[in-house]
Amino acid sequence: FATEFGPQVRRVTLEKQSEIRIQVPQISPLKLRVLHGKVEIFGSELPRNVWLTFPPLQQFAIFAWYGATLEIDSVTKTDTISDETPMMSYLNVHNSLQVQRHRVTSSTRDYVSSQGPRVIIIGDTDSGKSTLAKMLLSWAAKDGCKPTFVDLNIGQSSITIPGTIAATSVEMPMDPVEGLPLHKALVHYFGHTTPTNNIRLYKYLVEELARELDEEFARNAESRRSGMVIDTMGWTNGLGYQLLLHAIKTFNASLVIVLGQQETELVYDLNKAFKFKKNVQILNLQRSSGVFSRNSFYICLIKAKGFCFSYSQKYFNGATNNLTAYTKTAKFSDMQVYRIGDLIEKSNSTKAVLIDKDLVNTVLAISYAKQPHHIISSIVAGFVYVTDVDLGEEKITYLSPSIAELPSKIFIMGTLTWHQT
Ligand code: ADP
Repeated sequence: FATEFGPQVRRVTLEKQSEIRIQVPQISPLKLRVLHGKVEIFGSELPRNVWLTFPPLQQFAIFAWYGATLEIDSVTKTDTISDETPMMSYLNVHNSLQVQRHRVTSSTRDYVSSQGPRVIIIGDTDSGKSTLAKMLLSWAAKDGCKPTFVDLNIGQSSITIPGTIAATSVEMPMDPVEGLPLHKALVHYFGHTTPTNNIRLYKYLVEELARELDEEFARNAESRRSGMVIDTMGWTNGLGYQLLLHAIKTFNASLVIVLGQQETELVYDLNKAFKFKKNVQILNLQRSSGVFSRNSFYICLIKAKGFCFSYSQKYFNGATNNLTAYTKTAKFSDMQVYRIGDLIEKSNSTKAVLIDKDLVNTVLAISYAKQPHHIISSIVAGFVYVTDVDLGEEKITYLSPSIAELPSKIFIMGTLTWHQT
């Protein structure tokens, strides 16, 4: 990207079906407002004449279906405009999903035929999977549906923090700055950013989440009709491919979207695997050239044990525009920390962990389990980040996104650590 210092506020014109791709500079937030025309950020329409603030390092595109004018206030220019986007093909997918959703309403006689489409998006890391998921969800919500977002991407979760397997109902187009509201999410803590740490546990949690959603769908016709959009991790060969097959089958996906035209082998393998399954469709779509590679960029300062700075920063500091985190303390006697399984045994048993200095810089999930043997199947209430352990006073100091009292004494520890920089 060309970096040029110029006047702070610039006016930008977008032609029909073009987008401006923005990477907010590291040194300060970027502000923008829409003067004229209808524009979207990944499926969510932006209000007109309102200055919106985007935090440093955020990467996104503003797309205009019919042309628009914007004003951008930023210290450096780090954007490009392109009219070569796969947006039309993505919208076509949305339209055909809507047709399926409407067809479901008119034939709600039995449970199977009252299921809406279940889309699973697969492709490499940085192929635009979570971006496409957001668009399909936001467009569906805009059309009055309540699709469920299932996030199996333990490396870069969109719902909470890495290391989680989660789902949430999307009832409104997503907020382009704040992301998804978290209060209603079903979150399981896997505790690692790669499934190889405990394949059995990973598969178990995927199956557990699918079971919970089936229960939810049995109660809720609107969610059932709206279906699911499932985001996956960017590992598509070997064991990663086997885990994708497992996810497709576990969630009964009806449409598998493979992102990237180079993925011919993957598309071939999937077509072969589902040759005799008439209810699973495989669709290969182009990826956008605007997708930023986060690996090569410093936004994701993945540390030795793999924890994504940007997400933890956002989670532990509260919403992006409202930086609040609470430093709190708890007595050792008020916390029981458990680890699931063992990296060597690869078992799913839970083991109590002795509270000591090793907990400093770790991320712990707060489990809703009432008993230790319920930990694996229980969802979690949230996360805390341990900043200090005082062995003399027997007290733990931690950072929490919420002022509320801890809802449980049971905590889960994985391999996620976070180092404030
Ligand atoms: P994946 O889920 O495949 O790893 P993402 O969808 O998360 O990839 O995209 C990677 C990054 O690229 C994200 O920060 C996203 O906001 C950004 N991005 C995606 N599409 C575009 C686009 N057309 N223009 C600019 N940035 C984009």
